[in-house]
This record gives sequence, structure tokens and C-alpha cells, in this order.
Amino acid sequence: MRIVLLGAPGSGKGTQAKLLTEKFKIPQIATGDLLRQEVSARSELGNRAKAAMDAGELVSDQVVLGIIQSRLTKPDARTGFVLDGFPRNIPQAQELDAMLARLGKPLQLAVLVDVDREVLMKRLTGRRGCTSCGAIYNIYFSPPRVPGKCDKCGSVLQHRSDDNEDAVRRRLQVYETQSAPLVSYYKAQGKLRTVRGIGSVNDIFKNICDIIEVQIRPLAAAMSRAEAAAAQAAQLAARKAAKESAKVASAAAAAKKAAAKVMKKAAKKAKKAAKKAAAKVMKKAAKKAKKAATKKAKKKVVKKAAKKATKAKAKKAKKTK
Ligand SMILES: [Zn+2]
Repeated sequence: MRIVLLGAPGSGKGTQAKLLTEKFKIPQIATGDLLRQEVSARSELGNRAKAAMDAGELVSDQVVLGIIQSRLTKPDARTGFVLDGFPRNIPQAQELDAMLARLGKPLQLAVLVDVDREVLMKRLTGRRGCTSCGAIYNIYFSPPRVPGKCDKCGSVLQHRSDDNEDAVRRRLQVYETQSAPLVSYYKAQGKLRTVRGIGSVNDIFKNICDIIEVQIRPLAAAMSRAEAAAAQAAQLAARKAAKESAKVASAAAAAKKAAAKVMKKAAKKAKKAAKKAAAKVMKKAAKKAKKAATKKAKKKVVKKAAKKATKAKAKKAKKTK
């Protein structure tokens, strides 16, 4: 479930975001908290944020988006998230959409907690806090039993300076000029749902849950069907690829076998040729040897004959004497 909560200061969307995280076991991505965490962790983005804040500048959208992105890649955000306090204007919403598209996690719903301006004024300007135990009251909606005194500990109640009427009016003005256009932005995407932010916290929460039930469950079912189909397709493709690679491997094996056969044949041929050549050489040598022997024998015979003839001649000569 990927949701962004929209609402003016005092609309109670932060409270609703917390309830959503508990019910759906998804993290609340509140940029203010994240910034503080990154700064104290001295991460690279945290250091850049701190430098901007120290210089009295606003933290750039790029840094805030980077922090949100790194938060979204943590395991607990795998099943979804509730964005609270971001985006605050149209350019931020566009950047956020682009980033979520890159992550393959587009927003599913933008829920506006809608509260009338007069009620917001009373909620914000009527706030009183106990200086000692921290209990919160509202002089219009949940006043203390004794005006200006804490029910629990009797300490003095304080009206914070940024809760005075002028300051509150300015904050609401900023919201209306910068953030109210987000309502049209998400409406155009077909993602906007509106909940009246009046009544008990639990009633408002129930209305938000009903919207989620109607909007996201069918969407989630469709998405899981799509995911299953994609997984099946991937499996099929993997099987096909395995088959192909097996084919290639067997072709390679066949080629190797053929090469071995050719080499064996060539070796055999070479051996045969060598044998033949050796035989020829030996035959020639034998012939030569035979010839030489014959010649020698002939010579011997001739010599013997000559000797015999000489002997015979000598004998004859003796006789004639
Ligand atoms: Zn108190």
C-alpha cells in the first residue's frame, strides 16, 4: 500500500499516518523526522541537509528526495509506505512521481484529510500545552476544567508563540498557495480520495480504512495477478533460455567430439604414412645392401676364376716343359 496523506496544518493527518502504519505494518515516511535522523547519523545526505540549514536555507528537493529514496529501499518499506509532509508543492510531486516510477513503486492513493479553515484556525490557535507534564488542551474543543491550569498537575498552560493568530494565518496561507494545488494534481491522476477530518480520530481513521479497502484491495489483487503472470512469463523465459543454452552446450560437445575424431583420424593417417615411409626407406636400404652383396660375391667369383685360370696355366706350362 503506497499512500500519500494530504492535509493542512492542524488537519490531523500526522495522527492518521501513525494509525495507518500500525494497522498495515508499513513505515510512515515523515520528511522532518527523516531529515533529523540523517543529520544526526552524519550521512552524506544528512551533512548536505545540515549545511543548508546552518546557512539558513531550505533543504533542497534533491536532498529530501534522496533521503526518501534511501528510506524506501529499506526492507520494511517493501510492502508499502505512508508519506506524510511530502510533497508540499507540484514540482516536488512531479519529482516524487519520477523517483517512484524508477523504483517501480508508484503511488496508489492520495488521501486528503479535509478540514474547514475556521476549524483549522481554532485547532491551531486554541492549543495550550502544560509547561510541566506536556499535556495538550484546546480552549475550543478540549478545554481544561480550570482555564489556564493543567487538569493533571495544576501547572500553568502555555500558548506557544507560533500558535498565535497571525502566525497560524500565515501558515495556512502558505499551505493554500503551495500545497492545495496538489489536490488537483492527484485528482488528475485519478488517485485522490477525500476524507472529512472532523469528528473523532477513530471515526476519521475508519473512513480512511474504508477507502483503502475499496481502492487498494482490488488494485493489490490485480497487481498480484499481474506479478504472478510476470513471474510465470519469467519462469517460461528462463526455461527456454536454459533449453537453448543446453542446446548450445550439446552442439559444442558434438563439435569437440568431431574435432577429436578428425584429430584421431589424422594421427592414424600420419602414423600410417610414417610407417610406409619407414618401410620404403628400409626396402631401399635392403635393396642397396643386396646389390652390394651381389657385387662383392661376383667380384669374389671372378677373382677365384682368375686364380684358377692362372693355376691351370701354370700347370699347363709345367707339363709342356
Ligand atoms: Zn500538566
